[in-house]
Amino acid sequence: MNKIIDQPRRRPELPTHELTVVDSFNLHTGMRRVLFDTAAFDYIPGQDLVLMLPLKDGTLGRRHYTIRHRTEQGRISIDFVMHGEGAGPRFARNAESGQKVQAKGPRGRSWLREGFTNYLICADETGLPAALHIAESKDQYQQIQLVLEVQNESWKVPVLDIGVSVDWIFRNDLPPGPNNLLRDHVARMTLPPSCMAIVMAETSNTRSVRHHLIERGFTKESIASEGYWRPGRIGGHDHVEE
Ligand SMILES: Cc1cc2nc3c(=O)[nH]c(=O)nc-3n(C[C@H](O)[C@H](O)[C@H](O)COP(=O)(O)OP(=O)(O)OC[C@H]3O[C@@H](n4cnc5c(N)ncnc54)[C@H](O)[C@@H]3O)c2cc1C
Repeated sequence: MNKIIDQPRRRPELPTHELTVVDSFNLHTGMRRVLFDTAAFDYIPGQDLVLMLPLKDGTLGRRHYTIRHRTEQGRISIDFVMHGEGAGPRFARNAESGQKVQAKGPRGRSWLREGFTNYLICADETGLPAALHIAESKDQYQQIQLVLEVQNESWKVPVLDIGVSVDWIFRNDLPPGPNNLLRDHVARMTLPPSCMAIVMAETSNTRSVRHHLIERGFTKESIASEGYWRPGRIGGHDHVEE
C-alpha cells in the first residue's frame, strides 16, 4: 500500500519588483500615501505586495501593503495606516524620493470573483485601500455594499461610483482591535440572495464576520476573508478559512 505523506503547503515564489519612491504625503493624520515608480506588472484590484521594509536593527522585515491605485504610466500608490512606530508607518513617514524598496507579489485573493453581481465588502482601515480600489474598478453591472470600520469621521472619503453604497462605522473612543462592530452591523443588513463577501480587517473581527455569514447561508467558496493585522503580530497575514 502506498504511504501518504503530508507535505507542507508550498506556495510558489512570488516575483520581485523594485519600487522607487517618488513622493509621499498625508491623506489625513491617520493615513499617509507613498507613490512609487516601478516596471509594469499585472495585478487584480484588491491584491497586495509584500514590502521589504527597514527595521530598527538594520535588517529588513516583510509587511503586506495593498496596491491602492496604478496610473497608466505604471506609478503605484500605497496607503499606510499610521498606527504607531512599526516598520510600515516609520517607512511612510521618512520615505524619500529616489529611495528603493523591494516588493514581492502581487498576491492575495481579496478580489471580486466571477459569477456574482452582488458583493459585500467589509474592512477596517487596513482593508480600506483594497475596498476602495475594488469599488473603483468594478464593472457597470456589479453592485457593491461597503461596510467600513474606521476610527472617526476624519476617515470618511467620498465614494462616487454608481452601484456602490457605503456604511461607515466609527469606533470613536474605542481603540482599534477585536470588537463586534463589523459583525453586528452586517447582522442588521439585508443581503441579496446571491452575494460574494470579501472581509479584510483585524483577524478576530474578520473571523466573526465570516462565521456570521456562514450561519446566514453563505458558502465558504463565496467568502474571501483574511486577517490583515492582529494585536501582537509582527507583519504577516492570517488565513481565515474555517
Ligand atoms: C493582504 C494584506 C494587505 C494589507 N494592506 C494594508 C494597506 O494597504 N495599508 C495598511 O496600512 N495596512 C495594510 N495591511 C496591514 C499591515 O500589513 C499590518 O498592519 C502590519 O502589521 C503593519 O506593519 P507595521 O510595521 O506597521 O506593524 P508591525 O511591526 O507589523 O506590528 C507591530 C504591532 O502594531 C500593532 N498593529 C499592527 N497594525 C496595526 C493597525 N493597523 N492598527 C493598530 N495596531 C496595529 C500590532 O499590535 C502589532 O503587533 C495589510 C495586511 C494584509 C495581510
